[in-house]
Amino acid sequence: LSETEQDVLDEIEEKNVDFLRLQFTDIMGTVKNVSVPAEQAEKAFTDGIYFDGSSIEGFVRIQESDMRLKPDPETFSVLPWRKREDGASARLICDVINTSTGEPFEGDPRRVLKNAIDRAEEMGYEVNAAPEPEFFLFEEDEEGRATTELSDVGGYFDLAPKDLAADVRRDIIKGLEEMGFEIEASHHEVAESQHEINFEYDDALTTADNVGTFRTVVRAIAAEHDLHATFMPKPIAEINGSGMHTHFSLFEDGENAFHDEDDEFDLSETAHQFLAGILEHAPAITAVSNPTVNSYKRLVPGYEAPVYVAWSDRNRSALIRKPAARVPAASRIEARFPDPSCNPYLAFAALIHAGLDGIEQGLEAPDPVRENIYEFDEAKREEYGIETLPANLGEAVDALEADDVVQNALGEHITEKFIEAKREEHTGYRIQVSDWEKERYLEKF
Ligand code: GLN
Ligand code: MG
Ligand code: MG
Ligand code: MG
Repeated sequence: LSETEQDVLDEIEEKNVDFLRLQFTDIMGTVKNVSVPAEQAEKAFTDGIYFDGSSIEGFVRIQESDMRLKPDPETFSVLPWRKREDGASARLICDVINTSTGEPFEGDPRRVLKNAIDRAEEMGYEVNAAPEPEFFLFEEDEEGRATTELSDVGGYFDLAPKDLAADVRRDIIKGLEEMGFEIEASHHEVAESQHEINFEYDDALTTADNVGTFRTVVRAIAAEHDLHATFMPKPIAEINGSGMHTHFSLFEDGENAFHDEDDEFDLSETAHQFLAGILEHAPAITAVSNPTVNSYKRLVPGYEAPVYVAWSDRNRSALIRKPAARVPAASRIEARFPDPSCNPYLAFAALIHAGLDGIEQGLEAPDPVRENIYEFDEAKREEYGIETLPANLGEAVDALEADDVVQNALGEHITEKFIEAKREEHTGYRIQVSDWEKERYLEKF
């Protein structure tokens, strides 16, 4: 056992942990659990835990279904909402190993992100990321099922007594802190019942792990208050949806490679190229960072979500924003299009590869757009050379099918499974008849 593995065993003893949840995510980003008694911990580290991969969405074919989970000891954490006198539960995030080759499984999203990080490392960079997941807290019905009934009527940065969910948010933050999160800030978001909690940036892999944990903690603690937390991108029409803006920077030899104080925007050439890479591949990335039919209901003008492929150092209608940085180490870019329904491993991998490609190709970023792009008409967009994001999941998948850089980011296995699943999802949606249509047409025609 390594030293960290031994530490985990000690902690299991100390904290009276009796069950371990071994976690990994499927291609869609759903966190999967295999629960083992804590006595199995040592064996989990030495031999791994075997499971049937054929029942996990997008993993493997039946005839090659044996997979092995290899827990990452760095991710050990006691679950705050499962603490009891007689024993606690803890989780470990795992890598997935293909038992027939003994190699990391190419369909494991965590592996895909590690590949992106490895590529950055070969180029001399460390990747940092910080997400800003937004979510709604809705009432549950009598049976405990989710509704879209608002749990408060607060607005942006409102305080109690209007912000009735402040207590819930406080409990969520306490739970996150117990799991090792460093919370930077939290606030009531623009929409009623909408919230945002920001946590400290970290290396991209830890951050992607954290996103999965964050969603689990928020849902579990909201449920304790009889509320349903949802990360659905646009649960209610005509008010703000929920995004997951993600900030990125590259460090080189301990220095922020995105910072250059001689630049008008304090951004280095590397940062400009990285940003240009993301703009270039944005339509294909969208399939991964905004992967549901509902994601595209958020990406419409007027609700602080991006619609057009442009960057800005000022306004929030752009796809990428350069936030003001107080110190050089904080120079970064903010990708504003991802939403919290994405698989964070795959979305970050796609964004990082696109950015690195921009650096490798020496792409040049266009000028920033300082006006409100929502108000541009087509002629003005054409004059500025501004493209539009895919209008729906089908268009996004088309863009992914035409983009080798983003396909390579995902790898062959995931690209194939992902496109297949998303085509099916979009087709399933297309054949539905909505209430809106019935209201509009049923009596008219
Ligand atoms: N909710 C907005 C979005 O969909 C963002 C609002 C904000 O953070 N200012 O991206
Ligand atoms: Mg924010
Ligand atoms: Mg926000
Ligand atoms: Mg933001």
